[in-house]
Amino acid sequence: MASQGPRAPLEFGGPLGAAALMLLLPATMFHLLLVARSGPARLLGPPPYLPGLEELWSPRALLLWFAWLGLQAALYLLPAHKVAEGQELKDKSRLQYPINGFQALVLTALLLGLGVLAGLPLDALPEMLLPLAFAATLIAFIFSLLLYLKSQVAPASALAPGGNSGERGPSGVRMEADGGTRLHFHPLYSPGNPIYDFFMGRELNPRIHFLDFKYFCELRPGLIGWVLINLALLMQEAELRGSPSLAMWLVNGFQLLYVGDALWYEEAVLTTMDITHDGFGFMLVFGDLAWVPFTYSLQAQFLLHHPQALGLPMASAICLINAVGYYIFRGANSQKNTFRKNPSDPRVADLKTISTATGRQLLVSGWWGMVRHPNYLGDLIMALAWSLPCGASHLLPYFYLLYFTALLVHREARDERQCLQKYGLAWREYCQCVPYRIVPYIY
Ligand code: NDP
Repeated sequence: MASQGPRAPLEFGGPLGAAALMLLLPATMFHLLLVARSGPARLLGPPPYLPGLEELWSPRALLLWFAWLGLQAALYLLPAHKVAEGQELKDKSRLQYPINGFQALVLTALLLGLGVLAGLPLDALPEMLLPLAFAATLIAFIFSLLLYLKSQVAPASALAPGGNSGERGPSGVRMEADGGTRLHFHPLYSPGNPIYDFFMGRELNPRIHFLDFKYFCELRPGLIGWVLINLALLMQEAELRGSPSLAMWLVNGFQLLYVGDALWYEEAVLTTMDITHDGFGFMLVFGDLAWVPFTYSLQAQFLLHHPQALGLPMASAICLINAVGYYIFRGANSQKNTFRKNPSDPRVADLKTISTATGRQLLVSGWWGMVRHPNYLGDLIMALAWSLPCGASHLLPYFYLLYFTALLVHREARDERQCLQKYGLAWREYCQCVPYRIVPYIY
């Protein structure tokens, strides 16, 4: 037996942590959905009641989901104004991706607008959130299982750096016969822990021809679904109270800006950790298809059942906070993307850099000289602005801010580990020049 390669540390507490998260994440999502519509809306208390299967399971909700996924897949496959290349893969190849997410958003809006004019009852959507979330959870489990099975026949070069607890280096050789005559020797990879690998995702870029499942799910059905749910909540509020509240307008406007921005700058997703490092397994599938639309719309859900009075001065202050957050978030993300695409672009050519042994450079001035993750700082400031319209009477609408802070602190630590592995001493030098991670002088 050849010796086994060094094992990278397992993330999220290994198989046990992965199993716990697979229960905890859907349970939290259902808890939030139930609590948002309850009178006391207590984030930390028990759920107001446990719904029976008849309240969760609805073939109509499942059909709606398939129709939604089908529509988004059809829009994905429409001709795109640009086809972008992804980062270089292990086998030195690069995949191609259509850049037509914003077009998909606009076409979806047009189609829904026409549908509403023709009598589509969009304002009935809020009543279906529980069965829709249940259908999304089922789809996430089944889809992740299919992806896991597909990964078993994928070549080793297609596997993600994380999510393959068994693939840490050849542990021996396997002999395979071709037609029963000649024997071939293949490196043998230890099988890994199926629970952990199912959760993290084994294959980096599972796709069928041009339809890249991870890239497709990352920004389209879930993100566009999120703003659609928000809009349906706004319409239902208008029906209930005569017109949508200012708080509801703000939450809808801010989150539409966020989703529109993500789709407008769709190409930027190709350099994010989700696309370049993480496999496509339950963590991302559930996150993209269920967690994002049903928990990110929590503020709008809360506002429908707990209207809040919001004066113009407070609304203006909240808009200013969102604008500051967006300015930092967009500035930092665009600066890094411009630099990664072309370091001699005049917009970034004057920035200070550190060279690394990989040939890539790290920015040490501009946004990336302020803290090591200025984009996270902007994102967190926006998260605060999305919660503030919901007032200070309940903790529930601040769930997103709390969860997102935990997610980004953890994500930042994961990214640091990966960057230290990639860039070694150069990364340490960067950390010395830019000592704060997310918030200047604090963290
Ligand atoms: P980032 O866009 O922050 O990318 C991190 C990578 O950037 C590093 O791995 C490194 O990769 C590169 N990098 C780090 N420092 C430097 C530097 N000084 N100079 C040049 N390159 C550097 O990763 P994320 O995917 O975490 O975030 C993308 C955006 O998505 C963020 O704005 C984040 O807030 C947002 N996000 C939102 C979520 C949500 O649910 N709303 C969830 C997760 C993220 P390399 O060197 O290989 O290029």
